[in-house]
Amino acid sequence: MSVHASLLERHRKVMPDWIAMYYEQPIALARGEGRHVWDAEGTRYLDFFGGILTTSTAHALPEVVSAVQQQAERIMHSSTLYLIEPMIELAEEVAAASAIPDAKVFFTTSGTEANELALMLATTARQSSQVLAMRNSYHGRSFGAVAITGNRAWRPSQLSPLNVGWVEGGYPYRSPYGTLPPEEYSAACARDLERLLESFTAGQVAALIAEPIQGVGGFACPPDGFYGELKHVLDHEGVLLIADEVQTGWGRTGEHFWGWQAHGVMPDIVTFAKGVGNGLSIGGVIARAELMDCVPCGSISTFGGNPLSAAGSLANLRYIQAHDLQRNCAGRGTELLERLRAAQPGLPLLGDVRGKGLMIGLELVVPGSEAEGLAGTPDATAAAAVLEGCRERGLLVGKGGLGGNVLRIAPPMTLTTEEAAEGADVLLQVIGHVQQQLHGIAAPDAAFDGAPSAHASRA
Ligand code: PMP
Repeated sequence: MSVHASLLERHRKVMPDWIAMYYEQPIALARGEGRHVWDAEGTRYLDFFGGILTTSTAHALPEVVSAVQQQAERIMHSSTLYLIEPMIELAEEVAAASAIPDAKVFFTTSGTEANELALMLATTARQSSQVLAMRNSYHGRSFGAVAITGNRAWRPSQLSPLNVGWVEGGYPYRSPYGTLPPEEYSAACARDLERLLESFTAGQVAALIAEPIQGVGGFACPPDGFYGELKHVLDHEGVLLIADEVQTGWGRTGEHFWGWQAHGVMPDIVTFAKGVGNGLSIGGVIARAELMDCVPCGSISTFGGNPLSAAGSLANLRYIQAHDLQRNCAGRGTELLERLRAAQPGLPLLGDVRGKGLMIGLELVVPGSEAEGLAGTPDATAAAAVLEGCRERGLLVGKGGLGGNVLRIAPPMTLTTEEAAEGADVLLQVIGHVQQQLHGIAAPDAAFDGAPSAHASRA
């Protein structure tokens, strides 16, 4: 039995059935370096997903590795009952990078837990359990986070600690307003939000929580200024804005350090996780002091801001800033987007190519299924086939979207031009091949020859 087959058998015996895994035959990633990973059987891959946008700079980045090693030798744990120097230092740097006035930071161990605290702050400050969330959103896997997740594939329960209203507009490609030009689109969604507030709510609403670019939702990307339009409506009633930057933060979108900056707004609360720690377990919340301090009793976190995660995250954040990885995301992202968009005319399977920086979504649709003003039928079978095909050729990409039909490209932010070109070539060849196989439509220049992996190599 192969290493992976044996691991899978053991996994199935002791782990829950509902852990979603990639690939018909799941793989274990045993080692990483830069933008490459090696699986437990020694096959090498170019990593275009970074373990869900979490390996933000690079695998085994020496600066982060040595910060963690040095901290581990000193002390790994104390809890927030004691002063933790790396945590305080990280909070200072995160607060400064946030641009939020008078910012305070609380660290958690995950994005889910960060969103839980954001909900706690907003509902406490506003004395209301009414919350607005975006359709097609994902905010985590806890009871409260599931309640604000607008994607039924990730909603195991309809029970909710909150009264939630669902806002339209985060996903223009399949929005009923999607055929409008960008400013009219944003204005139409703002009017829709006004109607929602008038019709659904009773008394004051605590907050709207939104991902500036929806991650699990397939890198759905509303027009610039969209959340600014919504914020005008929210401000009218004092509704707070929570920006979930778990995927969009730290420069990944290329044009800005935070996703919300494309919208001309200043959120009241920001949540973050994933990329800040380059794989260490860390998340957190940033809010103005008066909001952060509204919690009416004592609270602690055993693991949040622990010395190990804080020291590693500090080294990672400094690396991102010192090497201006935001600029690299803008450059490599543009190269990738241009290349993918140029191939679109010959690939009707590619219904939509969207995103910013190193956060690119490819929405696959059944060719020819688009009706006037309506997006094509989601092609989840094709997306699964492309995911597999890329793996066979040595490229790891992600998948998401409401219909499970969106490929997600989010490599570590140190990606080089050569790696971007290599990954785009593999992707386009595999998409062309899948289009031919499933729909009988040949892609021009599809160089895929069906031969075993050209790029996957054993090392
Ligand atoms: N918010 C967003 C936008 C996310 O993408 C995720 C994770 N995919 C979460 C929150 C939850 O983060 P975690 O898995 O660290 O709990």
